[in-house]
Amino acid sequence: MNITELARRLRVTPEELREKLPELGFSIGRRAIKVDSRIAQRIQEAWSEMRRKERLAKKVEEQKALSERRNQQRDPSELKEVHIPSIITVRDFASRIETPVPRLMQELMRNGIMASLNERIDFDTAMIIAQDLGFLAIEETGQQKEEDTESFEKIRDSLQAEDAANLESRPPVIVVMGHVDHGKTRLLDAIRTTNVIDTEAGGITQHIGAYQVERNNRHLTFIDTPGHEAFTVMRSRGAKVADIAILVVAADDGVQPQTKEAINIIKSTKLPFVVALNKIDRAEANIDRVKGELAEQGLTAEDWGGKTVMVPISAKEGMNIDQLLDMILLTADLEKDRILANPNQKAIGTVIESHVDPGSGPEATVLVQNGTLRVGDDLGVRDTQYGRARAMQDWKGDNIKEAPPSTPVKILGWKVAPAVGDIMQVPKNIKDLKKFRSTDMSAQATEEVAAIKQTSHEEDAQAKHTLNLIIRTDVLGSLEAILGMLDKIRHKDVAVKVVGKGLGNLTDSDVLNAEAAEAILIGFNVEPMITAEELARDKEVDIRKYNVIYKLFEDVLEDLEKLLPSETIITEIGKLEVLANFKKTNNGFVIGGKVTDGKLLPGAKVRLKREDEYIGEGEILTLQSGKSDAKVVKSGQECGMQFKGKTKPEPEDVMEVYTQEREKRFLDIEGISKR
Ligand code: GDP
Repeated sequence: MNITELARRLRVTPEELREKLPELGFSIGRRAIKVDSRIAQRIQEAWSEMRRKERLAKKVEEQKALSERRNQQRDPSELKEVHIPSIITVRDFASRIETPVPRLMQELMRNGIMASLNERIDFDTAMIIAQDLGFLAIEETGQQKEEDTESFEKIRDSLQAEDAANLESRPPVIVVMGHVDHGKTRLLDAIRTTNVIDTEAGGITQHIGAYQVERNNRHLTFIDTPGHEAFTVMRSRGAKVADIAILVVAADDGVQPQTKEAINIIKSTKLPFVVALNKIDRAEANIDRVKGELAEQGLTAEDWGGKTVMVPISAKEGMNIDQLLDMILLTADLEKDRILANPNQKAIGTVIESHVDPGSGPEATVLVQNGTLRVGDDLGVRDTQYGRARAMQDWKGDNIKEAPPSTPVKILGWKVAPAVGDIMQVPKNIKDLKKFRSTDMSAQATEEVAAIKQTSHEEDAQAKHTLNLIIRTDVLGSLEAILGMLDKIRHKDVAVKVVGKGLGNLTDSDVLNAEAAEAILIGFNVEPMITAEELARDKEVDIRKYNVIYKLFEDVLEDLEKLLPSETIITEIGKLEVLANFKKTNNGFVIGGKVTDGKLLPGAKVRLKREDEYIGEGEILTLQSGKSDAKVVKSGQECGMQFKGKTKPEPEDVMEVYTQEREKRFLDIEGISKR
């Protein structure tokens, strides 16, 4: 046979073939053009044997790399100590426990806390979450703690320093608390839509974390953060952002864990409050039962001889909302000596919302608590110049020039995004502020977010599997909150792509778009139109309905997880030296050997090695120790084995034994937490 023909059959060049032949033990002259057909046959056999071994070596290498990686991952399985300050931002926390932010958020949400990237959580919360994630949190005392208390005290000091004569009454600031799904969001929407100061109908208001309404010519400020960040802020900082709380308790569900938590906060911060017994439109509502449960918590209704104001309402039907507002105003009247501020002063307030807009950069809402904030003011956070108020907007999106006490105001002009819960203070003198250093932690964070946003498109395009979604919600706040959560999902193999979004019920065209984009249709607090539902069935479009954000988020993560290719886990478990080959069976051999390392298990996989070269593979069918079947044979013991495999084991061969499982990959999202 011609050498060139032989080379073609072996899929190599004739030069390569000539070079390799001596290695395989064939000596044909370097110039030979032809080989004997018998030799050609032997060369082909040797060649495929060589290729087989090469492939095997490569496979073994991959398996070993896998098992090594796995071992590294397994290391921190015991609780690892981590130092956490008394207050920490989600971002920082994630970085300290080396956990991707979305994973951490998921864990927080499981514990009923909706926290955004810049939001702060307290040590107690961090400790619980850390433990779930395999860490033992140790509270860091010292500087960080002092800094926090210091800045919190700034607001109190600022007010205490005021001459009583300069103090004027200001709108009360109200926060809504209660168990998830009891109607906090719905109530905030109901209040916003029924009592807007400006009655221009149809205008889409923006969620800046708070809004103001008017009732009986008086203003009220409501903290309205999607996910109720203020709730955590209040808890974590003890900062009295709010003057009054509304405790929402669903009359069909009664006192639940987060209701109790809210009651504890209200009690410990001595926050005046009003109870809203919500969902009284529902047939299952039982006001008396809930009053009984509240009484057990120490909150006795006035008509039961107690002191707690309770207003039965329906946020959905808009029932008794005005009555609730009147009760809040009444409560504010009782507190009027405390709901004061000096408008003729440099502003100080708390950051209640903060994010980085890909277009306009960092944006944050500050609730002014004393003084008046004006366009052009320097923004001081942690004694550092964080920017200058270039423009300000109220919650309706109108530009405003000044924001008196109790006004929530979105500020543009930040050089760096502050964290939710940060205190913003306009300095008396710009020299009082440190120049902003790029080494500053938050700055880094901002740049990071900006960088992520920039690359996100690229990343998404590269991602192998995309989960397409079309999302509709009842209110803008929910939509923003959902998009915000989804935006944090970054992964090299999978990505979420929102191909459509909007407010209102799911329509036929949503279904058609979903079909075209192979997207899942998600309705949050909205329903599909009847025709849309039919169409979806017809087109096999998946419609999902939610009313709890974290469930939606969890499901999305689960769907993403399904898109991940499953991973093989290789665990090296032991080694055996072959002592004898007793006989051949129909699918392998019966051999005898001695375990030299680890242990052997029936069902485990085997690599067969001869003089440092991998020559074959197989599997342990059964093991025998003495005369009986063994479930395990340990190092030092001799055993018999039914080996399944094509390559015949010889004495002195070594069997490397490993287990191989396929594990669903956990959605370990890379990204934001990396520093
Ligand atoms: P949150 O988790 O406390 O913010 O609760 P939401 O405001 O999101 O409400 C949870 C669910 O209860 C939603 O499906 C609301 O539409 C519904 N809901 C809220 N208030 C009422 C109400 O007064 N009556 C009825 N029937 N449903 C309500």
